[in-house]
Parts: sequence; structure tokens; C-alpha cells
Amino acid sequence: MRERLRGRFSRALVTGGAGFLGSHTCERLLAEGVEVVALDNFATGHHDNVAHLRDHPGFRLVEHDVTEPWPALDACDAVLHLASAASPRHYQRLAIETLRAGAFGTMHALEFADRHRARFLLASTSEVYGDPRRHPQREGYWGNVNPIGPRSVYDEAKRYAEAVTAAYRRERGTDTAIARIFNTYGPRMRGDDGRMVPTFIRQALAGEPLTVTGTGAQTRSICYVDDTVRGLLALAASDHPGPVNIGNPHELAVRDIAAEIRALAGSSSPIRRVAAAVDDPKRRCPDITLARAALGWRPEVGFSEGLRRTLAWFAETGLPARPGSRA
Ligand code: NAD
Ligand code: UDP
Repeated sequence: MRERLRGRFSRALVTGGAGFLGSHTCERLLAEGVEVVALDNFATGHHDNVAHLRDHPGFRLVEHDVTEPWPALDACDAVLHLASAASPRHYQRLAIETLRAGAFGTMHALEFADRHRARFLLASTSEVYGDPRRHPQREGYWGNVNPIGPRSVYDEAKRYAEAVTAAYRRERGTDTAIARIFNTYGPRMRGDDGRMVPTFIRQALAGEPLTVTGTGAQTRSICYVDDTVRGLLALAASDHPGPVNIGNPHELAVRDIAAEIRALAGSSSPIRRVAAAVDDPKRRCPDITLARAALGWRPEVGFSEGLRRTLAWFAETGLPARPGSRA
């Protein structure tokens, strides 16, 4: 990985660079000797995520909304397009903004990449598979998405983003790649973003009930952030167009994830069932055969170890915020 990135890119543009995945991506690129320009409007990201990078000579942070015409930026040979709300709470709150990020934001990022003949990587999502009828999900599956449901603003924005990425590749010859990222967790997730892992951690540390939706039998396959970022960068450094699933195939019921977090936190919080979320996918698990074969990538951090690291980070940085307190 080190050699491939070093030789491959000299400067990367990371949209959404002040977010959870974006900040880890910037950090990793800088560690590999690649200069980074991070573009972010702080819709869901935070200055704290990149505070430790601000003085790095190879790092530049530009505050900008990717859906608006872009300012003049230094030439880059890689564009990693991550800007978009990602948690159901935020993308439903920022519904039209999320559609705009997937549509206008992706087109602007593609135009920039095309102009500089840069490698372009789209951070797409397992949500393009919707509530999947095939299991585990392979890249050839077209998905099962409710086009007008509450999740559609995100799912369809990403499906559109994939379509426009594929079109630039076909029509303009832009060097594009599509990563379909599955649920990722780790340090720098926001305690108020409503996603399962930070919510359960916040609740367990505060001694509050862990709110499991529906029966809790629905499954997710969660991947530690370092593994996901390594996968994204391996795809960027390759010539593969994707889509490639990046995720950890260790599938667990949501109620079991809650129970494990409670145990690791040494918490005696009860587990409370709350109303099921509308259109909540019932099962989700990546088939990562392609990533293994094409990129030589597979996740390395196990579930308990990743959760332990995440819990340690939340404990160190103080109790994560309550819902809405940093929104
Ligand atoms: P995040 O909310 O922490 O990061 C998104 C970043 O994009 C934030 O810093 C936000 O301020 C920025 N942003 C949003 N709209 C913008 C706009 N219009 N202009 C400029 N910046 C904007 O979320 P994340 O979990 O880090 O997700 C990053 C990317 O990865 C997203 O595209 C998301 O869809 C994708 N993804 C994440 C996961 C996951 O589990 N974390 C899974 C699948 C896909
Ligand atoms: N979930 C839950 N309690 C919460 C937040 C989420 O039980 O406080 C459930 C949610 O309904 C879904 C799963 O956990 O079944 C994963 O939700 P998340 O928002 O983390 O990701 P996504 O639904 O986008 O995969």
C-alpha cells in the first residue's frame, strides 16, 4: 500500500475531508507522503476532526459547499469524493442538501477530476442495494430501493452519483472508481449522529437504555475505520473502475451489537426496544470476493477489538454529545 500510494499520487483532493471517514483518509494520505486539499462545508463534519492536521505543511482545508461552483484549487492527481451527509438522522434532516451533494457535488468533483486528468473515487454505499433481496450482496446485484421513502434521499443520491460517475468514464474517459462502503465505525463518529454504534456507546457510557429498533434481529456487518480507509486507498491506487464492496463480512444482529457494546463498556444499561425505522434494511453483508482478488484487501480489525478502540476514544474525549446538541 505504502509504495503504491507514494508513487501514484502527489496531491489529493478529499471532499468531505472534515468528516469521520474523510479525516481518517486525509491523515492516511499525508502519512503516505501525499499532499491533501480537504474541501468541506461542515454540514456534518467538524473542525476538531482535522485540528491535528492544520499545521501539517502538506495539508490545506478549504471551507466550501461542493454543490456550489468551485473556487480555484491547486491541481490534484486524485479526487476522493466523500462529501455527503451519511447518517439517517442527518440525511433525513438535510434531505434536499443530500440530493444536491449526490447530484451537483458529484458532477463538480467529476469535472474537476476530468480537467486535471486525475483518478476519481466515489464514496458510494451499501445503501444502493436498499433492503436487499440477495444475500450477501455482490456488486452485480442492482438493489431494492423505495424511490420515495425517507431513505431515498440518500440511496437515490448515491445511485445517481454512481450513474454519473459511470457516464463520465464512458463518455469522457475519466479515470473513475466506485467504492460501495458498508457500515463503518470508529473514533471521530459524532455521538449525536444517530448511527447505531455511537448511539449505543453514548447510551452505555451514560448508563441510559440502549435503544434497539424493531426486533433488533435486522443485521449489519460493521467495519473498523482503518480497514475501510485502507480499502478506499487501495482502490484509488489501483486501476479498477469498481464498483467494489468495501466492508467487513462479519454479520451480526443489531441487538447483539448492542449487547456487545454494553458488555465492553462494563455498563448495566438495559436494552430497550423502540419503534422500527421505516424501510430499515433487514439484512446487510458484503461479499468481498472482488476486493480480495482485485485489490488484495481484506479487513484486519475484529469486531471486539474495533469496538474496544472506539470505546476508548469516546471515553478519552468525553461523553459523546446527546442527539441534537451539536447538530
Ligand atoms: P460524515 O458526515 O462524518 O462526513 C461527511 C462530510 O461531508 C462532513 O464533513 C460534511 O460536513 C461534508 N459535507 C456534506 N455535505 C457537503 C457539501 N455539500 N459540501 C462540502 N462538504 C459537505 O460522514 P462519513 O461517515 O464520514 O461519510 C463519508 C462518506 O462516506 C459519505 O459520502 C458517505 O455516504 C460514505 N459512506 C460512509 C459510510 C459509513 O459507514 N461511515 C458507509 C457508506 C458510505
Ligand atoms: N439502530 C438502532 N438504534 C439506534 C440507531 C440505529 O437499533 O439508536 C438500528 C437501525 O434501525 C438499523 C441499524 O441499527 O437497523 C443500523 O443503523 P445505522 O443508522 O447505524 O446505519 P444504517 O441503517 O444506515 O445501516
